[in-house]
Amino acid sequence: MRVTRLTAERVAVALAEPFVVSLGVIDSADTVFVKIETDAAVTGYGEAAATGFVTGETSQTVLEALKLFQPALIGANPFAIDHIHRLMDQILVRNGSAKAAVDMALHDIMAKAAGLPLYQYLGGAVGRVETDMTIGLGRPDEMARQAGELAGRGYRELKVKAGASDAVDREAIALIRRAAPQARLKVDANQGWTASRALRMAAHYADEGVEAIEQPLPYWDIDGMAYVRSRSPVPIMADESCFTPADASVIVRRQAADTINIKLMKCGGIHRALQIDAIAEAAGVTTMLGCMLESRLSIAAGAHLVAARPNFVYADLDSFNDFDDSALIRSAFAFSIPFIDLPETPGIGVDLGF
Ligand code: MG
Repeated sequence: MRVTRLTAERVAVALAEPFVVSLGVIDSADTVFVKIETDAAVTGYGEAAATGFVTGETSQTVLEALKLFQPALIGANPFAIDHIHRLMDQILVRNGSAKAAVDMALHDIMAKAAGLPLYQYLGGAVGRVETDMTIGLGRPDEMARQAGELAGRGYRELKVKAGASDAVDREAIALIRRAAPQARLKVDANQGWTASRALRMAAHYADEGVEAIEQPLPYWDIDGMAYVRSRSPVPIMADESCFTPADASVIVRRQAADTINIKLMKCGGIHRALQIDAIAEAAGVTTMLGCMLESRLSIAAGAHLVAARPNFVYADLDSFNDFDDSALIRSAFAFSIPFIDLPETPGIGVDLGF
């Protein structure tokens, strides 16, 4: 089987409301869909959801990167996934979202050719994944109102953005704990703290039963994260500090995190995510699969991965709730809060109207 064509299309998506994290505000979004065709009449779909302040990519850079990858992809065997990643890395370092779109489409093709849903192709047994739901930065009473509402709708895990100020973060988590007493809570500081502030907040979060603190320090400060982890009563999760398998290797060797938040858009897709997960698992570090502002296509690809790898103890695959992709996606997975039930059709199982 050979790749014959790659088509990319940038599509605008309207957000229900702006999403605020300590790094910035996301009030509009677009995403890039990729279609890869083969000479065996098997077609695969992928997506790149660029987030400039995390990956350094925009939809424009994704489209340019895909143009650069195209000559290496045409004529390639889609099963030669490691080889294709090496070729892409030789053409452009980083650019994980553009690579993820290609990787996702190739995995869609491989699983379709095997006649298996992607999670089974990757070695999994059950196509069901529980997702959490994220609460953005806002007024503490408003965040708590959201938490109560989400718990009432059936979400059992909530991820709470932090980094406003100690007083606001403390009030928010206390009110959220009261509004959703049974919820499993994680807090994401998105690099917003210093080590001393992280440890101050960790003591408070431990009292509220928070299970994990995500990315307390700037992404480059691995030693700082190891210091915080060695003293924190709450487990520490690395997100922006881990893009590549090499990053994961540094994090586990320095014992800087208890959990690594893998995102397809950071690492370059499923192939690299499997490598990071394997490094983490061998070092006794668990993983979470997170997401950017991804449509149901990319979310489905991520859910297949989580369903295949039990080292993923959390799935933060909630972005598809923030915008309406129904004009673009004809059919995807079933979602009954909090469970994503993956389609049993071959491949990712998402039918795109392009
Ligand atoms: Mg994060």
